[in-house]
Parts: sequence; structure tokens; C-alpha cells
Amino acid sequence: MSTPHRTAPDRGRALLGPALRLIHTGQAPTRSALTGALDVTRATAGAVTGELEALGLISVDSRPAGGGRGRPSHRLALADPGPAVLAAQLHADGVSVALAALGGRLLETAHLPLPADTAPERLLGAVAEAGATLARGSRRRVLGFALALPNPVTEPDGTALAALHFDWPAGAPVAELFADRVAGADLGPRARTVLPTAVANDANLAALAEHRHGAGREARHLLLVTSGHRGVGGALVVDGRLHTGSSGLALEVGHLTVDPLGRPCPCGNRGCLNAETDPDALFAAAKRRPDPDRPLLPQARELARDPESADAVEHVVDRLGLGLAGLVNILNPDRIVLSGLHLDLLAAAPDRLAAQVAERCLWGRSGRVPIVPAQVAHAGLVGAAELAWEPYLEDPQAVAGS
Ligand SMILES: [Zn+2]
Repeated sequence: MSTPHRTAPDRGRALLGPALRLIHTGQAPTRSALTGALDVTRATAGAVTGELEALGLISVDSRPAGGGRGRPSHRLALADPGPAVLAAQLHADGVSVALAALGGRLLETAHLPLPADTAPERLLGAVAEAGATLARGSRRRVLGFALALPNPVTEPDGTALAALHFDWPAGAPVAELFADRVAGADLGPRARTVLPTAVANDANLAALAEHRHGAGREARHLLLVTSGHRGVGGALVVDGRLHTGSSGLALEVGHLTVDPLGRPCPCGNRGCLNAETDPDALFAAAKRRPDPDRPLLPQARELARDPESADAVEHVVDRLGLGLAGLVNILNPDRIVLSGLHLDLLAAAPDRLAAQVAERCLWGRSGRVPIVPAQVAHAGLVGAAELAWEPYLEDPQAVAGS
């Protein structure tokens, strides 16, 4: 018997996922760029793009692009209208749901307030229904549904820990409940019969969104730190993949101590990054009170930009700098992306923050880590869409199933 070896069609199939990923993230706008990025022959790249086009995922425009020198290359674009996925995000102020295309593009979004009963079954049921309404109203084929949660989510079993915003019991089986609620919803005739679902932490998903479509592009060790409505989250993307630890709980950067005598944290300790650099901390430092009838984050962002609160901003920026310096010493990232309120703190005092980090890093002054603002709007939703696309980015032929 001859030794088994990969035939040309096998090799072509193995290249479909990497090729779709490059087009999805904007790194292969032409067939020659794709040929170079995959390091294959023109014929192979042609076969791969032909297959992705046949699957309804991309379009290949063979008209010359013009302008450039040399042989014109076929332009590659994501199919429009192509298939879509559903993405949702739960946060302290409500639920956001979106229909998303490939390319990190949100096609349609809807927001609803939290229902009075936030028990996991009810809340996840409301998310499934809101997604189903978007799916029924769309002409696109819907291929998956993923949800971003503001609390840690264990892997691989998908339970929620420390879901403080919604009073969920520790260990609530959110992945299973969400799959169950989506399976029971009427998603209309164009959704897959059995819709794949997934659940993950929102900071992790925001980091994925920034890495693929925003300020983290091409970073090899991307650290994201964010302060949303309450508390502080973080995530690390290494070589394009999330680093989630042994059970999904890595990068709980919010509970790094930055002031042992500082403000109390819901975790029971004092002076966590969580309690020292979130919207509440900024209001406390400024000796101001937020309007209880408005969402907290936008008010904190206004306060960070108010010249009269410069002292409070500096106080909170110094605490953030301490936390980032500790993370840089441990993780050695090549880029830090800040989002939520931290983005405004960076904008208000960029030099102070960079100096604070550099001063406390072992290699700070010589090898300064770029600290940049997040770029992706609704990064939690865009990241949830990434999670929903993942099975198809791994194996684009999976779109052909029913
Ligand atoms: Zn804490």
C-alpha cells in the first residue's frame, strides 16, 4: 500500500478557513494579497476563492482594480448580502442584540431594558426572543447566536461565576440555558435548524473584536483593559487566540491590588483596580455624585473630560498606571488597548499614564509598550459575533449544512 498523503482537494479545504479569516479581517483585499499571505500558488488561491464564492461567503471581482502597476489582481469582498449571525450583550443597564455580517459589521441593533425578573432563565429567554425578532425580520441566512456576559464564564462547561449585576447563583449553567432558550425560540425560516450557540465574558470578546477589527490588529500579545458600567475587566490575545487560562477564568485584572488601604471591592478586598479605577471611583475622587436616573458610564466619561475634575482624573490615572505596570511586568504585551472609561482617562492624561507605567516596569523606559484607545464601537457585540462566526471561520464548508 502506498503511504497516504494529502491530495490537492484536501489541501484546498484546509486553506478555506485561513483564507476566509484573512478576508474577514481585511488582510486580503485582493487575490494576490491572499496568495502572498497563504504562501500558495495563484492556481491554489484561485481554487480557494472560487470555493468560498460558491459557498456564498465572498465575491470575486475580476475587473482590473486600475491605478496600480503590474498585473491587476482580482478584488475580494465579503458577499453582500451574505449570511449573518446574531450577537447579544448583557450589561447592568440592559440587553443589546445585533444581527452581524462577516467583516465585523453590525447590520442592525436593538436595545432593551433589563426585565424586572433577572433570573437566568428569564433573562436568557428575553435575549433569545430579541434575537429571534431580528432573525425573522432579516432576508439573510442566520448561522449562529453568541452572547457576551459581564461576569466570568467557566470553560468548557459554560457556567457563570460572580454574576453580581443580576444576582445569579454562582455556577448558573448559562451556556446550557442559553442554548435551550434559543432552541425554543421561533427564528423564522432562514435560520439554521439547529443554531450553534456560545457564551463568553464581554472583556474577552471585546479584546477579540479589537484584535481582528480595531486597535489591536497585528499585535502579537494584546492586553485589553476596560472599565464599563461597573468594575474593571481585562483580556489577553496571544497570536490571535484568547488566553483564557485552564478553566476560562484568566485575566481577572480587576482584582489586582493597587492600594492596600483603598476603597472596598465587592470581592471583599480593598483597593482592587476594580474599585479604584471604575466610574464610581472617579465620581468619589471628584467628590461628585452621579445622576441616579442616567446610565453611569456616559456620566463618568463626561466627568473625565471636565477640566474641573483634573485632580480626580490624575488620582485615578495613577492607580490605573500602577495596575497596568504590574500587568506589563507579568505579561509582557506588545500593545495595550484601553476601553470604556479607561479610554477617556488615557485621552485626558496620556503622558502621565505612560510615564506611570514606564516608571514601574522593569523594561519600561527602554521598551515602552504602546497604550492606545479602543477603536471598535460596540466591541462586546462585535466580539460576540466573532464567537458566533468561529465554527465557520474554522471550517467554511459548515455553512452548507442545514
Ligand atoms: Zn476585588
